[in-house]
Amino acid sequence: MSVPSDQDLIERWRGEPAPLLPTLHAFHERDGYISEEALRAVSSGLAIPLAELFGTLTFYHHFSRQPAGRRAPRVCTGNICCLKGGREVLAALKEEGATAMPCAGRCDDPVPVLREHQVFVGTTAAALQSRPSPVPRPNPGGIEECVFAAIRNPGRATLEGYRDSGGYEGLLQALEMDPAGVVGLIEESKLAGRGGAGFPTGLKWKAVAEAPGAPKTIVCNADEGEPGCFKDRAVLDLDPHAVIEGMTIAAYATGAARGFIYLRYEYPETCEILAGALEEARQAGLIGDKIAGSNFAFEIYLRRGAGAYICGEEGSLLNSLEGKRPLPRNRPPFPVTHGFEDLPTVVNNVETLASAPQILRRGAAWYQNLGQNGQAGTKLISLSGDIEVPGNYEVPLGLNLQTLLYDWAGGPVGGRSIQAVTMAGLSGGFLAGADLDVTLDEPGIRGKGSFLGAGGIMVFDDRRNMVDMAHNAMAFFAEESCGKCFPCRIGTQRLTERLAGAAGPTAQAQWIEEVRDIGATMMATSACGLGMAAPHITESLLKYFPQQITRHLES
Ligand code: SF4
Repeated sequence: MSVPSDQDLIERWRGEPAPLLPTLHAFHERDGYISEEALRAVSSGLAIPLAELFGTLTFYHHFSRQPAGRRAPRVCTGNICCLKGGREVLAALKEEGATAMPCAGRCDDPVPVLREHQVFVGTTAAALQSRPSPVPRPNPGGIEECVFAAIRNPGRATLEGYRDSGGYEGLLQALEMDPAGVVGLIEESKLAGRGGAGFPTGLKWKAVAEAPGAPKTIVCNADEGEPGCFKDRAVLDLDPHAVIEGMTIAAYATGAARGFIYLRYEYPETCEILAGALEEARQAGLIGDKIAGSNFAFEIYLRRGAGAYICGEEGSLLNSLEGKRPLPRNRPPFPVTHGFEDLPTVVNNVETLASAPQILRRGAAWYQNLGQNGQAGTKLISLSGDIEVPGNYEVPLGLNLQTLLYDWAGGPVGGRSIQAVTMAGLSGGFLAGADLDVTLDEPGIRGKGSFLGAGGIMVFDDRRNMVDMAHNAMAFFAEESCGKCFPCRIGTQRLTERLAGAAGPTAQAQWIEEVRDIGATMMATSACGLGMAAPHITESLLKYFPQQITRHLES
C-alpha cells in the first residue's frame, strides 16, 4: 500500500467537522512523530497560524516531536499504579525510551503500558499482556441496576447482541413522542450529569432545545482523565451502542443534527470498538439520515484526544474539538447557548448518556426509585487500590460507603485496615476515620467537605504514607494545570513543593498556615474546577493526618 502524501492526509479530513485532531493523528501515525514539515503542512492546509498550531500541538502529552517518539512505551505512574509497581515497570522499559504518563484508566488492572494502538497490563515488565476490560461483577445484594443492567449479556457490544436485550427500543419509543415529551421524561427522572458536575440532564437538554441557532450539537465527553476513574471505559468497551443510542435520543430531544464522541487517547482499543459500533449503527439506519424510517437525521463523529487532563472540562473539550489550544472557557456564556462553534451544545458524560435509553424504556419513576434514602437513580463507582475486589460497581445513590467497601468489594486486602479513601478520583481529596460512614450521594459526601464527582474511589490501607499519596496527587494537578490562571498554575506547584519537603525545614505552624493560605486562594480565585478542587487534597490531609504531617516535617 502506498504511503499517503501530506496532501492526501489533509484532504481526508479538511471537509469534516472538527478536523484538526484527526489530521494531526494521521501525520503522527504515518511518520511516528509530528515533524516540522508536517506542522507547516497542517498549518497551511487547515489555515491555522503556525504559532497557534504549535501552541496547540505541544499542549498534548502524546503528540511526539521526536522521530519515532510515537512508538516509545508510556507507563502509568498514577497513584494506584505507583503502589502496584508502576515506577519499576517504567525503569525496566527505560531502554525502549519509555516515559511516564498520568493515570491511564486501568486502576482495576494495573499497570497499563501504552504501546502504539494497544494497552498492556501487568505489575512487572515481564508480566505485561493485553487484556480486555473486565466485565463488572454483579452486586451481591441483587440490587437493580440501570447502566450495567444488561452489560454482562454475551455479545452486548455488537448491534445484534444489543438489540437482543432491548437495545434501540428507547430510541424507537422516543421517535414516537414529541421532542418536548422526551425532555420532560428525562427531567422527571431526575437524571443528573454523571461526569462530576451533577447538573440536571433534562434542564440541560431543555436549554439547548430552546436556544436559537443551528446546527445544534451533542458531545459525549469520553475524556475520562480523572485518576481512579475507569467506569466510562467499561461502558464504551462492553456496551458502546448504549452511548450511541443515548446520544441519538438527546439529539432528537434537542433538535441536534451532529454529535461527537471525544475519547481519551489512552483508550486505543475503545476507539476501534466505537468506530465499529458507529458503522454498525449507520448501516442499520440508526444514525445518519432518516433514522429508523423517520425524518430525523443525526450523524456522530468520533474524535480521539491526545492526552490532556483538562480536556475533560467541557470548555477545554470544546476548544480542543474546534482545533484551538484547549484551555477552559470563561463562563457565562454556557455551552447550552454557545458551545461547539458558538452554537447550542449538550455536553454529557458517557454514563449519563448510557442511562437515557433505559429511562425511555422503563420510565422516569423506575429510574428515580433505583436510589435509596431519597436519592434518585444510580451511580457507577470505580473502586481501586488496597481493596480485595477492585472494579466498577453500579450503586444506588444513597448506599452507605461501608456497604460498598466491605460487603460488595470484600474489604481491605490481607487483613489490613482501611486508612483513607479518595473521593471524585483525586479531586475530592481524602475521607478517613468516622467520615467513612457516609452515604454515596452528593449531599452526604459534601457534608464531609468533599464531593462524589465522577465516582472514582481509591482505597489506601494502613501501610500507606498519606503525605506521599498527597504529594503524588498534587504533582499530578501541577503537571495538568493548563496555566491559564496563576492561582492554580503557581499554587499547585507551591503545594507540591511543600508536600515533597522541598521548601526546606519549616515550623509546623508556618507550614500549615502557608498550605491553608495557598489552598484558600486557589479555591476562591481559580478559573476552573482543577484549581478549585486540588486543595481538597491538602485540606483533607490536614484534617485527618496531622501526625503524618508532623513526621513529614521532622524527617
Ligand atoms: Fe487552567 Fe488551573 Fe486556571 Fe483551570 S484553574 S483554567 S486548569 S490554570
